[in-house]
Amino acid sequence: MNPGARLVLLGRQGSGKGTQCTRLSRHYVVPHISTGDILRAAVRDGTEFGRRAREIMDAGNLVPDDVMVGIMDERLDRDDTRGRGFILDGFPRTVAQAEALERMTAPRGIDVAINLDLPREVALARLIARLICADCGTNYSTADPPKYGMTCDVCGGDVVHRDDDTEAAIVRRLDLYEEETAPLIAYFDERGVLETVDAMGTPDAVSERLTSIIDKRRN
Ligand code: ADP
Ligand code: ZN
Repeated sequence: MNPGARLVLLGRQGSGKGTQCTRLSRHYVVPHISTGDILRAAVRDGTEFGRRAREIMDAGNLVPDDVMVGIMDERLDRDDTRGRGFILDGFPRTVAQAEALERMTAPRGIDVAINLDLPREVALARLIARLICADCGTNYSTADPPKYGMTCDVCGGDVVHRDDDTEAAIVRRLDLYEEETAPLIAYFDERGVLETVDAMGTPDAVSERLTSIIDKRRN
């Protein structure tokens, strides 16, 4: 991708969005900005904000828009986003956040928003099986666990079930996705930057689809 590419990955929880963002970020050498990772880091730091964020996340609810917009405003202001662009993972999640993103990135805006498309039932099954490295965020599943016990293949950290991957919180997140985030598909389509990619299949197959779409857009 040409330096300065600005990508948004959309997709239901369980669509493999985080995994694919990590891969794209390595492939194109562009910073991967994950709001979930930023929030989980605040939880680990044990700040007052982290404590509040944790309650919201554990219930599967959304952190208020003004808080998320403040976090992103600060993050997008850092130098690494200027030359190389960025890949946004987990932001925007509401129309209000998308409108704020448009203001923050004006006049150019973002180059492409890719919707990783996955049926809800498949997403639910994937989320129930999901495991994650507590240190680096690499995703595993009960069907495809780390090679050695519950130790991360990438960094040696502890691989765990996420605290917010209880069935109640998962169902709540999927419902909120339909209500709050799915409208962004039409939002980006109206702006002429939407692409849709099938999220079924192996991570490698999905990566192929993503890079071919991004490379096509770039030419
Ligand atoms: P998932 O894709 O499984 O929902 P994430 O790691 O992207 O997981 O986000 C975890 C939690 O962090 C969300 O359930 C939500 O509570 C909070 N969160 C992350 N991004 C946002 C956002 N843009 N707006 C509001 N809340 C967010
Ligand atoms: Zn790890």
